[in-house]
Amino acid sequence: PGTLYVVATPIGNVADLSARALHVLAQADAIACEDTRNTAHLLNRLGLHKPLLAAHQHNEMEAAQHIAARLAAGERIAYVSDAGTPGISDPGAKIVAAARAAGARVMPLPGANAAITALSAAGDLLDAGDGRFTFVGFLSPKAEAREAQLRALAARPEAWILYEAPHRIAATLAALAAVLPGERRILIGRELTKLFEQLVVVRADAASGWLAADAAHAKGEFVLVVEGAGESTAGEAGATLNAQHVLALLLAELP
Ligand code: SAM
Repeated sequence: PGTLYVVATPIGNVADLSARALHVLAQADAIACEDTRNTAHLLNRLGLHKPLLAAHQHNEMEAAQHIAARLAAGERIAYVSDAGTPGISDPGAKIVAAARAAGARVMPLPGANAAITALSAAGDLLDAGDGRFTFVGFLSPKAEAREAQLRALAARPEAWILYEAPHRIAATLAALAAVLPGERRILIGRELTKLFEQLVVVRADAASGWLAADAAHAKGEFVLVVEGAGESTAGEAGATLNAQHVLALLLAELP
């Protein structure tokens, strides 16, 4: 059987594609991808021309079977998602499973990932949880499930990472301010590795203000790293701070 190469691609800056990824893409018999237009564009920039196989969220099962059959016949197939590391908030899991079931070798090529890129610049935001973190990715699109998710996450000792789209960033920052103690820090990573890259650390109670301060702030792709509650007294401290926050809000409303 052949080999399935799971290849990470850039999350913005094309120079982040590794030399090894370029070599593997150039040698592959075919490239399976989430969006053929998007990948054709990347390959053009790299000066490569390869047969593309569409393998997106809606046909991943059939695509996986097709890829597995070709791997069984000895082909070398690369799989790439639209951006970053396949399988991380992206399709890829079914293709990897089918390849393995077909007896093919599965070889991952490391590269760009929005969560790890933001984390690498999170600094002491990771201290409260002793360097540990939880990857959440996209929150549920349903308001109720989302709120429950956020409440549970807010109590966790370690830092946590969210992915967010521009049309929901305002709602998410407001929801975070509602469940977090005001001074809890959030790293907002916007348009990482791109021309308008921005990395800011804000307090939970100032996050919406930062977003509203400039219309450009709401544009692009976002990663959020939320500081953890820390160990032991975190619950009590959180409760006290929440009470203080509520009191401050109430006092501001009083005549
Ligand atoms: N597989 C990708 C990875 O390895 O990071 C993630 C794919 S997911 C469908 C897309 C989301 O990742 C975006 O909505 C955004 O939250 C985040 N993301 C991707 N590229 C980004 C970038 N350049 N800057 C900030 N966030 C980014």
